Amino acid sequence: MSGTAGPGGAAPAGPEPGVLPGELVHVVTDRWTAPWWEAFAAGRLVVPACGACGTRRFPPTPFCPTCRSQELRWEPVVPRGRIYSFTVIRHAVIPPVAEVLPLVVALVEPDEAPGCRLVGNVVGVAPEAVAVDMRVVIEARRVRDGVAVPRFRPAGPGVL
Ligand SMILES: [Zn+2]
Repeated sequence: MSGTAGPGGAAPAGPEPGVLPGELVHVVTDRWTAPWWEAFAAGRLVVPACGACGTRRFPPTPFCPTCRSQELRWEPVVPRGRIYSFTVIRHAVIPPVAEVLPLVVALVEPDEAPGCRLVGNVVGVAPEAVAVDMRVVIEARRVRDGVAVPRFRPAGPGVL
């Protein structure tokens, strides 16, 4: 990923506090979504835009809602944004999650992609300090070979 975030290197061996265990992450792709996941695993944050009229559509869909075109192009965006919404999970529904609680799950809107929202965990900050509109850096968290999911870290002074 360009800028301050990177693919994150090797997946951690054990449970990482505040992060959903990698074995619970299941990514299913299709011809419309696979390019996003492949780019993100390679360290690039991209958003899909209609190849005919430029309307962004995220998640990518077979048809543009504006012009019905099926053409897509992938536009790189800087991996920085703000928290649009979030929740703090404090109770484990399944045992493996208990080891990493509390877990903050957020929707983050990249600065350069208004209306596009990513889902991931917020790390590097106490859950009580997370807030809507908090500035974050979007990182690619590698969960296994070829698979990375978004993770958000508060942006420090001078980062944005
Ligand atoms: Zn279009």
